[in-house]
Amino acid sequence: MNKTFALISLGCAKNLINSEQMLYLLDEAGYSLVPSPDGADLVIINTCGFIDDAKSEAIDTILEAAELKKAGKLGAIIVTGCLAERYKDSIIDELPEIDAILGVGSYADIVEAADAVCIGSKLDLFRDKNADIDEIPRVITTGPGWAYLKIAEGCNNYCAFCAIPYIRGRYRSRKMEDILDEAAELAASGVKELIVIAQDITRYGTDIYSRRSLAKLCRELSKIEGIEWIRLHYLYPEAFDEELINEIAENEKIVKYLDIPIQHINNSILKKMNRRGTGDDIRALFTKLRERIPGLVLRTSLITGLPGEGEDEFEELCAFLREYRIERAGVFPFSPEEGTPAAEMEHVDGDEARRRADLIMQIQAPIMDDFCSSFIGKTTKVLCEYYDDESECLVGRSYADSPDIDGAVFFKGNCAEGEMTDVIITGAEDGYLTGEQLC
Ligand code: SF4
Repeated sequence: MNKTFALISLGCAKNLINSEQMLYLLDEAGYSLVPSPDGADLVIINTCGFIDDAKSEAIDTILEAAELKKAGKLGAIIVTGCLAERYKDSIIDELPEIDAILGVGSYADIVEAADAVCIGSKLDLFRDKNADIDEIPRVITTGPGWAYLKIAEGCNNYCAFCAIPYIRGRYRSRKMEDILDEAAELAASGVKELIVIAQDITRYGTDIYSRRSLAKLCRELSKIEGIEWIRLHYLYPEAFDEELINEIAENEKIVKYLDIPIQHINNSILKKMNRRGTGDDIRALFTKLRERIPGLVLRTSLITGLPGEGEDEFEELCAFLREYRIERAGVFPFSPEEGTPAAEMEHVDGDEARRRADLIMQIQAPIMDDFCSSFIGKTTKVLCEYYDDESECLVGRSYADSPDIDGAVFFKGNCAEGEMTDVIITGAEDGYLTGEQLC
């Protein structure tokens, strides 16, 4: 009988793609996926190790699996991903229930690890995290109608608060032909929305083509039949050039929703955090993007309590948000990550950082509500995702909603899941829209 495995994918969409690749490899090797670790021969926990909350979630998940194993309800535990990579020296000693550990350069070794733990062996493999990206097929777990498309690995930006470059290695772009082949396959399987991701997509191509190539990549992706939306996630603010702005403005398939994490707006904090531009550069960019791209939805990420953030600097951030009225914002209290320069710098305590994050959300809430209300009476294209029994509505997303982080549109109609349709918006509440499909 086939060995069974469960897979728990934690963290971000980039990690999810690695999970999807492992699903493919294990399926090819004859392993059968089951929904829960309870009763499985093995569980793979693909971890995130980015900030404290993510680490706690990963460790709790490992400990839950260890309980199952101890009770004889689970055969073995394999831990992969960022937590494994980051704490490779201590994790085996501290969590002896783990049977195999794979670093971020070793996803392709998952079958070897599964085979090993199924015969009772232990294994740890940490191949070079800076090696060229493995082009591994994957089993798509998102959708219907949309999928992530990872275009690069790693990061070279070395923002002072961020552990990603140390965990995930240097920036490596995938070859454009490989990305386009994958996108064409996704389109052929019914994907209409591609969500282009990497730690920093604006840097795409600088390593392998010696020039920024995101605009060209988007141009080529938009030629693929069946692709209707191209959504861009994680654009580094200082790396926008005219070619990219023109492409976003003129290419109808690029969704007018840009995710540009700025982290802060104060010059001395940005400098201290090794960000390359100033607050005025960010203000000028946002103004220019709004002028050039009608209907643009901006998303950003912010960190409160960064080293150097006193009351004045925090107030500057609040004033910026009140003035620029960014439609979508995520805010995180500063988490001093060991091994990063910022962790060694003086900063406010965690409670104060959290208090400031709450204040930011209080500023943002009415801005986001006003933005949602602005849809009422308008018709918008929606990608239909599923039928919700409780509300007896179809549920989908407009261009203003990215999966898992933004709201959704609840609407009456008969659109098939995974298809797009026009919806007239009749209501808005708590980030969610309601409406009716146009006949
Ligand atoms: S660009 Fe993003 S991933 Fe890279 S170091 Fe800065 S915050 Fe981290």
